Amino acid sequence: MHSDTRFDHLKLDKKLVERLESYNLTKATPIQAKLIPMVAKGANVVASAKTGSGKTLAFLLPAIDKMLTHPTSYHYPKLFVLAPTKELASQIYSVAWDYTKGFDIRVALLQGGSNRQKEKEHLKKGVDIVIATPQRAKEHIDSKDFDIKSVKTFVVDEADMAFDMGFVGYIEELLTKLSPKSQKLIVSATITPRVVKLAKSYIKPLRKVEIDASNKVANTVTHYLYPVLKSKKEQLLSWMISNNNYGKVLLFVRKKEIADALEEKLKEWDYKVGVLHGEKLHNERRKALSDFKNDKLDILIATDIAARGLDIANLDIVINYDIPHVKQDFIHRVGRTGRAGKEGLAITLVSLDEIEQLKDLYKLLGEKIKEIITEYTPKEVKARGYLLQAPQRRRKSSQKPKKDNPLNKKGKKRKTTKRDGFKILDARNQAKNKK
Ligand code: ADP
Ligand code: MG
Repeated sequence: MHSDTRFDHLKLDKKLVERLESYNLTKATPIQAKLIPMVAKGANVVASAKTGSGKTLAFLLPAIDKMLTHPTSYHYPKLFVLAPTKELASQIYSVAWDYTKGFDIRVALLQGGSNRQKEKEHLKKGVDIVIATPQRAKEHIDSKDFDIKSVKTFVVDEADMAFDMGFVGYIEELLTKLSPKSQKLIVSATITPRVVKLAKSYIKPLRKVEIDASNKVANTVTHYLYPVLKSKKEQLLSWMISNNNYGKVLLFVRKKEIADALEEKLKEWDYKVGVLHGEKLHNERRKALSDFKNDKLDILIATDIAARGLDIANLDIVINYDIPHVKQDFIHRVGRTGRAGKEGLAITLVSLDEIEQLKDLYKLLGEKIKEIITEYTPKEVKARGYLLQAPQRRRKSSQKPKKDNPLNKKGKKRKTTKRDGFKILDARNQAKNKK
């Protein structure tokens, strides 16, 4: 995860290097090592690097450094970061806060659901860094609560999500309203061609930085795919979580309705469950996430609004109850685990009606995910031994499959109860079946 570059070799202010050290950060990650000097020199960049690779500090540090080394006589917004969801905006705010507290740098968080008047008063007192969700940013800019022309650096985090969430027009508007001299940074783990096209048409000159291939799952994440009868998904989920010593589980679902239905079920099964989706109130969303972060919940059920950017400590398992509506979100969902060099496990449940989406996902990933056959697997899949094969990467018969048990995290023991009534067939058993 780290490059050979130490933060003290990146020409950052001594106070900032000390602050990094106080959080035990001494070496920059590859994206930080590459981006920090470029941003310091004022380049406009479209930057992609895998989930959990430290993109936040890559764009915050050079901006904060400039504020420390070139203090201004009054506070005005110099760095403006746009984040697609409230949760991500809050998270970036808390990182910005950690790296500015005690310095003469003021940070504001603007997000839907918060008191707009209070935000306005905060802005009027003068701030240096503004972190905002799109709609709330628009409200403040339209009512001239802060002057976008003063912004020196504009960042769009998780930029490709703008297309899915429908605020791409607003980004275009901002790009035309900003001072032509301002620096623009477009960041994501999944930079799509649409994002590049948008950036190229508004930002000149523009440089591209890509650490590893874009659109790839972090290599710290181990994946398994469970073909399952649609009607058996709940049972399979129940079996998985009751028979494994997973720590807390982040459970992604496509739709709010599924989230609500699963919440009821999981509560019936006596799990401590939280739900995070777009129809929950601001405070409910905040509480669900903070309870999950503070280990007060066993399971957080979330729609794809929680797929992007969230950095949750001690999260080892992500379960996808289905394939996401937007295929790139798959990379983000599973990227909530395996962050900052740690290992993670991602499990995806796929029913027959999702096969087209799975094909599409494999096209994006360029590889197939290892499939696990269970009692809940549809008969025809069981008979064939697989749900979907990646034609370009067939396993040679001479290659022996690994003997691992996918439901087990390393070093953790899986209890099998009688209640299971079935055993999981590993890849070897699948091979036998085919004979
Ligand atoms: P990304 O935006 O690329 O998904 P984040 O910026 O959220 O990733 O960072 C992921 C995690 O990595 C955070 O917990 C952060 O504290 C940690 N981190 C960031 N930079 C470093 C570093 N240089 N060394 C070690 N950990 C880091
Ligand atoms: Mg991020």
